[in-house]
Amino acid sequence: MTQMLPLNDGRSIPQLGFGLWQVPAASTAETTATALRLGYRLVDGAAAYGNDAGQGEGIRASGLPRDDIFVTTKIWNSDQGFDKTLRAAEASLKRLALDHVDLLLIHWPCPGKDLYLDTWRALIRLREEGRARSIGVSNFQEPQLTRIIGETGVTPALNQVEINPRLQQPVLRAFHAKRGIVTQSWTPLGQGHSFDAEPIRAAARRTGRSPAQVILRWHIQIGAAVIPRSTREAGLRENLGLFDFTLTEAEMATIAALDEGQRCGPDPTRFEMD
Ligand code: NDP
Repeated sequence: MTQMLPLNDGRSIPQLGFGLWQVPAASTAETTATALRLGYRLVDGAAAYGNDAGQGEGIRASGLPRDDIFVTTKIWNSDQGFDKTLRAAEASLKRLALDHVDLLLIHWPCPGKDLYLDTWRALIRLREEGRARSIGVSNFQEPQLTRIIGETGVTPALNQVEINPRLQQPVLRAFHAKRGIVTQSWTPLGQGHSFDAEPIRAAARRTGRSPAQVILRWHIQIGAAVIPRSTREAGLRENLGLFDFTLTEAEMATIAALDEGQRCGPDPTRFEMD
């Protein structure tokens, strides 16, 4: 149903998953179990989403073996620092009711706090202790990546960053490729802002797919992992249909031309919210 991408630590990650940001806590278990039953194998959560108990509950309710599911969570900004991160990770695992996650990320670098290096050292410890099978970051820019790699010798397996047709981040993606870091796209559908763009509509017409499927397929073909969110079963199902059609090189080029460098989310060089 989905392809796997190799990680630089010898493990691999499903290229397609689903995200839990803004999924209400009360329905997260049901959404998670439904998505897993439909065929998703990666669940992207975070302490900050306030729904990780439901994330864990949905994983158990799916009836799938734990090892078949790739579980991601993230350390929130106010938990940065070595000891706080160790405690926050334990608290996340307790809420999830799991003994390990597959991927633990630093949610935002918060360069003003200057704690991301200590936080990274805690993630390395958590990986050694088996509490996280793989470790990575989110919203990191090249200087922060270079610093944590240089100081610890450990390269993040993945950087989860905003990518959609209007914000394509080609320079950061090239850096990731050079360092063996998987790019994972958040807000991949860009709040629907490109659904009506002519290159998307034209590719949708030719392939008989929806604009959302065309955009998600574009992520797959640029080599990124992708984690769309839908709280509708029909949306979850639609977003799984990415591996039985291909965009042409010409279509990929017209979509590349939609890049305006414009974000939907916060600017990671300034975002420090606790
Ligand atoms: P998405 O780009 O996934 O878009 C979600 C929106 O698109 C929802 O309103 C959804 O509505 C709609 N949608 C989904 N599928 C379709 C479809 N097939 N056709 C039409 N509309 C559709 O946005 P998110 O911002 O949620 O990003 C995805 C995930 O990325 C998050 O859930 C989270 O896990 C992660 N993330 C990480 C961040 C970070 O800092 N690391 C920041 C932001 C997000 P409906 O539910 O009605 O289908």
